[in-house]
Amino acid sequence: MGCRRPGGHSLGPRPKGSQLSGLPVGDLPEERPTPTVDLAVPKVALAIGAHPDDIEFGCGAVIALEARAGRPAHLVVCSQGESASHGTPEQRKKEAEKSAAILGATIEFVKLDGDAHLEIRAAHAIKLAGILRRIRPSIVLASSPAENQHPDHSRLGSIVRDAARLARYGGIEELRASPAHAIDQLLFYSQTPESEPRDISPILIDISAPEIVAIWTRAMEAHASQTSVRNYIELQLTRARLRGLSAGVEHAIALFPNDPPIFNSLSQLNRSARLF
Ligand SMILES: [Zn+2]
Repeated sequence: MGCRRPGGHSLGPRPKGSQLSGLPVGDLPEERPTPTVDLAVPKVALAIGAHPDDIEFGCGAVIALEARAGRPAHLVVCSQGESASHGTPEQRKKEAEKSAAILGATIEFVKLDGDAHLEIRAAHAIKLAGILRRIRPSIVLASSPAENQHPDHSRLGSIVRDAARLARYGGIEELRASPAHAIDQLLFYSQTPESEPRDISPILIDISAPEIVAIWTRAMEAHASQTSVRNYIELQLTRARLRGLSAGVEHAIALFPNDPPIFNSLSQLNRSARLF
């Protein structure tokens, strides 16, 4: 869908020899019609994480890539990491805010059941659906629903999947205040190799540009309360390096589409992984 640039209306050519305010205008360049341009609406990306560092570790480079391209990116964090072994909630929140700023994203915190207490409930899906209706993203990124990780991660993945569906339903009483919204694509990110969905073929996002890797690394370093106790950064960089090298680029992040992407024609398909 395109939008018309404001003021982009066409002006007809001025007749030669016409007078404006009594002054001869014959020597002025002929006014040409202003071209109109259909600008694509920027695709807003919204990433949702259970804890203050999940998005950054799982797909921070993808967020950085969007922000650097001028597309809005918004992060929604569903706890302040209050059950973590390291770092206070206040500290975790500050780290996440700093990290989001490094990525070029905006951030908000929403309270569900709290860290380590998240349960799959309709009320949570409706709450997140309300955020989807307010932000109106094209792309939603959520933690993988695959288990064998922090239980909040997989549960949040399921809740977000439900939220994306409820956001487009017109008759939900709690959501009547805002118009329904259908996202284009729900993609899952994973924080560990073990939590990658086994039953979904990934798409790969090429994050090889050195400045993107640098921004991503700084964003992860902002979570000092976590990175000081475990080498999370090296884990993510190594995963991206292995994904990238395996596919024929320097670094790549795997995202797992909840639904098969649709292309208008074969011409929209470009690169694929150059597997060894
Ligand atoms: Zn987490």
